[in-house]
Amino acid sequence: MEKPHILAIPYPFQGHVLPLMQLSLKLVEHGFKVTFVNTEAVHKRVVSAFSEEDNVEELINLVSVPDGLDPEEDRNDIAKLTQAMFRVMPGELEQLVRDINRADDKITCIIADETMGWALEFADRFKIKRAAFWPASAALLALKLSIPKLIQDGFVDNDGNVLRSEMFTLSTSMPVMNSKDFAWTSAGDSNAAKIMFRIFEGTNRTVKLAERIISNTSYELEPAALSLFPEILAIGPFLADNRLGKSSGSFWRADASCLAWLDQQPNQSVIYVAFGSFTIFDQKQFHELATGLEHTNRPFLWVVRTDMMDGKSEDFLKIFKVRIGQRGRIVGWAPQQAVLNHPAIGCFLSHCGWNSTIEGVSNGVPFLSWPYFADQFLNQTYICDVWKVGLALDKDETGIITRGEIENKVEKLLNDKTFKQRALIYQEMVISGAQESGCSNKNMSNFIQWIKY
Ligand code: UDP
Repeated sequence: MEKPHILAIPYPFQGHVLPLMQLSLKLVEHGFKVTFVNTEAVHKRVVSAFSEEDNVEELINLVSVPDGLDPEEDRNDIAKLTQAMFRVMPGELEQLVRDINRADDKITCIIADETMGWALEFADRFKIKRAAFWPASAALLALKLSIPKLIQDGFVDNDGNVLRSEMFTLSTSMPVMNSKDFAWTSAGDSNAAKIMFRIFEGTNRTVKLAERIISNTSYELEPAALSLFPEILAIGPFLADNRLGKSSGSFWRADASCLAWLDQQPNQSVIYVAFGSFTIFDQKQFHELATGLEHTNRPFLWVVRTDMMDGKSEDFLKIFKVRIGQRGRIVGWAPQQAVLNHPAIGCFLSHCGWNSTIEGVSNGVPFLSWPYFADQFLNQTYICDVWKVGLALDKDETGIITRGEIENKVEKLLNDKTFKQRALIYQEMVISGAQESGCSNKNMSNFIQWIKY
């Protein structure tokens, strides 16, 4: 009998590719065949970042299609890239599925990132099972699905412009958020925000075509959002089964040497500092963060991507590295999941991307939160106000997070044991949710049965 053959299609950004690849590896373990479709630009990066012991290519069929931009065009311009993909990728996908169906086991199910809703339209037309994958919090999806209500209640106009900047909540037990931080408002200028708003509205329509909507979250973390939209099936966190150190799908090759350095540090002593794949720093803020870390007098592991700072900061960093010596370790990209699982980690200074958030929580690590844009503010609210497993870093009147603020909050967090205690309680809750009789595990089993039959 032919194996069920899944086509997995991520949105071409790090925080989307990584979790869908994790899910794909899980599905392979359950006996499925998976073909993973990246854009050509992402495919190149992912393949060149595999480490020697990575065997992803043996487990998953990795293929690529063009994204509609020229090779030298800026792929961090989200609105432009998304529009280009909408133009060319449906045709590319159709050709790909025809080719696969001729030569291989037929595609029986498409799992597409929610933002790639056009793939669900395609699956619907071709009578293929279709699931939408949502790699962020259920609260954010709930917000997106509530766009018509936000317009009706006068929070935004028909173009997504924020009309009322105020704190509000979708339901009494959900985190309070500020309407000025809506995810689409951070896409760039107002035109880009408008394009992103249109895309969000559009994917709200296509997600209705999905027979299943699955998300890397858990009922224990987001009961209110999941109750508000019960069609969102929490199947995470994907790491709760201890698939550690496996971060296949990274855009950069992880520097695993930091794990040996961590082995030499006392338990719960190290500040792990990482801002995901997208955040950039201006010179002043970069220097302030470095000096703040230095002044804590604690060991720290800091991820500084090569594209995260300007040339002047590079010179500063060289001198800084010499000054801090063995007390601090700076890497271009860390094996984050293994790092967060290391007993030496004391806290996680994070930009609060959803993957980082759920990885920190799954490992019982308290947070210092430093959100930049999109859903990171919403995730900060979960961390600091709902789960109470972290402290927010506050900006001064000039918009900077100062060295003093960093030093003070590190001390406050690490000296107050209640943060670690609560982090351990949440860790236990999410892990049990992903184990045998847990909610995520049941949803995952049902999802697997649905694909099979
Ligand atoms: N990550 C990593 N090494 C690093 C920094 C980040 O492997 O040095 C991974 C991290 O584990 C997470 C992803 O990159 O899975 C970042 O996703 P997130 O949603 O946190 O942030 P984004 O990059 O989307 O802003």
